[in-house]
Amino acid sequence: DRLIAATPRQQEEVIDRAIRPLRLHDYIGQPVVREQMELFIKAAKGRGEALDHVLIFGPPGLGKTTLANIIAAEMGVKLKSTSGPVIERAGDLAAMLTSLEAGDVLFVDEIHRLSPVVEEILYPAMEDYQIDIMIGEGPAARSIKLDLPPFTLVGATTRAGMLTNPLRDRFGIVQRLEFYGVEDLATIVSRSAGILGMRIEAEGAIEVARRSRGTPRIANRLLRRVRDFAEVRGEPLICRAVADKALNLLDVDEQGFDHMDRRLLLTMIDKFDGGPVGVDSLAAAISEERHTIEDVLEPYLIQQGFIMRTPRGRVVTRHAYLHFGLKVPGGRAE
Ligand code: ADP
Repeated sequence: DRLIAATPRQQEEVIDRAIRPLRLHDYIGQPVVREQMELFIKAAKGRGEALDHVLIFGPPGLGKTTLANIIAAEMGVKLKSTSGPVIERAGDLAAMLTSLEAGDVLFVDEIHRLSPVVEEILYPAMEDYQIDIMIGEGPAARSIKLDLPPFTLVGATTRAGMLTNPLRDRFGIVQRLEFYGVEDLATIVSRSAGILGMRIEAEGAIEVARRSRGTPRIANRLLRRVRDFAEVRGEPLICRAVADKALNLLDVDEQGFDHMDRRLLLTMIDKFDGGPVGVDSLAAAISEERHTIEDVLEPYLIQQGFIMRTPRGRVVTRHAYLHFGLKVPGGRAE
């Protein structure tokens, strides 16, 4: 199990609920997203209309679900939540849509994983607030049209490229979440520490932030592990040194990489001469699923400049060699 895995775990959920920001002004970082959403929400509320449909994309743990909940809270409406793979039949989606009240938010996580039949139901629902459902079977089957209240679909996905064009085109608002900078993550860490009743110095928060892979969920998770360490070692105040010791013990290195990141980079270096290597070969070599590499592992390594995506496959950069104290082979990209 991966400490810096970007998907939530069950025991985390209780604490998560306590530290998850509920309003836009507590949503730290992402200034462009925040400013735009503030404007769109204000305009929609001013007109007394449902907010236009919103597509949020970005790697796991960057705040897509949080933003969806904030949108509903700021609009003063209820949110119903589901996810692409959970909706198996068109009828499941129809049932959710018809249970919405005017203005409500329907949040669909992993929206790229909707089945094509289910996706088709969404088109007229998003466009005209109508659905066509088939009732009966065989020659007696007929389709009936149902009117829906105006609603807002908020879809989340890790990669915008995985959405079909007709679906993507039906979102009036598209927001892309970026990896967070150290300063914003430190603010998130300090805020969470405050809610959890922990004492942490600014330098301690920065150390946790630096090693959180640009991801709020990981920052909060590392903070909790640092808290365990501090409690057991009898450290009442978390300073930089305490955070550093705790994170080293957790095997999170100076860059915030864990054993999975290191394994990926070292496999590319040792087995594939630094690349180019196709993502499927890489997945087989490290026994991971392709989508885990693409969605969870590599986005941050690419953003940090340790891996490059080229038409011929993935390539490690000189930063990767230097990170492991290895000699950079001649001709390696910057
Ligand atoms: P995603 O849906 O993108 O996987 P979440 O919305 O579940 O990510 O965010 C993971 C956790 O990170 C949340 O529980 C929340 O506490 C924290 N978080 C995310 N974005 C922010 C933010 N902008 N400011 C403060 N905390 C955040």
